[in-house]
Amino acid sequence: MSLFESTIKKIESVAQRLRVHPNIIEQLKYAQRVIEFNIPLSMDDGTVRMIPAWRSQYNNACGPYKGGIRFHESVNKDEVMALSAWMAIKCAVVGVPFGGGKGGAKITPKELSKKELERLARGYMRMLAPSITSDTDIPAPDVNTNAIIMGWMVDEYGKISGKRDAAIVTGKAIKDGGSEGREAATGYGGAVTVNQAAKHILKKSPKDITVAIQGFGNVGSFVAKFLFDKGYKIVSLSDHHGALAGTQELNPYAVKKCADEKGFVAGCYCVGDVCDYSEKNRITIAEQLESNVDILIPAAMESQITEDNARRIRAKVIVELANGPISPSAEPILLKNGITIVPDVLANAGGVAVSYYEWLQNKKKERWTEKKVLGKLEKLMIKSFDEVWEEAKSKKIDLRTAAYSLAIQKIAKKMKVKPK
Ligand code: NAD
Repeated sequence: MSLFESTIKKIESVAQRLRVHPNIIEQLKYAQRVIEFNIPLSMDDGTVRMIPAWRSQYNNACGPYKGGIRFHESVNKDEVMALSAWMAIKCAVVGVPFGGGKGGAKITPKELSKKELERLARGYMRMLAPSITSDTDIPAPDVNTNAIIMGWMVDEYGKISGKRDAAIVTGKAIKDGGSEGREAATGYGGAVTVNQAAKHILKKSPKDITVAIQGFGNVGSFVAKFLFDKGYKIVSLSDHHGALAGTQELNPYAVKKCADEKGFVAGCYCVGDVCDYSEKNRITIAEQLESNVDILIPAAMESQITEDNARRIRAKVIVELANGPISPSAEPILLKNGITIVPDVLANAGGVAVSYYEWLQNKKKERWTEKKVLGKLEKLMIKSFDEVWEEAKSKKIDLRTAAYSLAIQKIAKKMKVKPK
């Protein structure tokens, strides 16, 4: 079953259990629109490469389509569609008035020069611009895209439309109309979620809770720092080159500094301010995922925990900060083994929540302080976690089903059933 098919199967089964009208369920089984295009990318050597790209607009019942754009070699239409459906669910779970969208281009951005990357970003926007406005579909960064890329996209959109509109994308740099707190938002919201999960499930204080984090990009590095600040014991970190773990608690600030210099995490076993660059604390990513920790935080890519390794996962709680890190076939195995899964559609919603705050600031021509932004986010994440937790407890269902259940009720309420 493809990622989109399994997502739809989940939405359909929850909607049926909620007795949502069949005409609404039928609509939720499809993306409303998928835009498919090829970006002619001029390479520095004078050749042109055609880069396959997509934008999926899954559902806009709750508001404009919203979701990131990723540049990655594994991007495909099905993945983009699944991610756009998760966005619709995610926005509804946390009550952000947006629908679900997602985009991507199939490319390995690390192989591009800076100029080629800029031409790709501008080319993506040129192809998409006729299909979006800042009131209908608002892209954002995702894997391998960032504030600089968003800046190029806003600029390109302005050139095409003849008018600069900062609200056309979120996740921009502050100088381009970005919001304070956006860069840290997903990690910050994730840390608030971990805290709520620890309170409800582990019932121990942070200093007695061990955490392993897979991925050390935007989301992974920020959640590591925020959890470290709250007193959690970060015992393992990784990036796509490999992982590190040992007997002591890691300092993610020092690891970040070291990894930025060396180019990878696995050689940066930093305890306090002292880093050991030797190989002795390196482990494989598989070993990291299967390590004996209280909380495992996948913050890298989807499908990291599958039927193949699910039985070997020993964490008590998994907080999904990546989108879809647990494959649908692995989930029942984990749940049967008593592992609590805090789903992506709740745990990583901090990014889209602050994207909404950024969009609001652009529309109202306001500038909010980081304190205000993160303060609002913290309240939103606590409220959302507690609502999902109560739904799960009262209906005796797992947290993902509870989150989908709350979201689908909200989306279905907004979708009108046409009279015969
Ligand atoms: P990023 O590109 O900044 O970082 C990705 C990190 O994962 C990098 O450190 C990379 O080396 C590492 N990685 C890749 N494959 C790996 C593997 N197999 N094992 C270990 N590490 C691996 O991306 P990001 O923005 O941090 O996003 C990470 C995940 O979070 C994605 O699933 C994304 O969709 C999701 N997400 C991001 C945001 C956001 O605001 N950035 C919001 C919601 C969800």
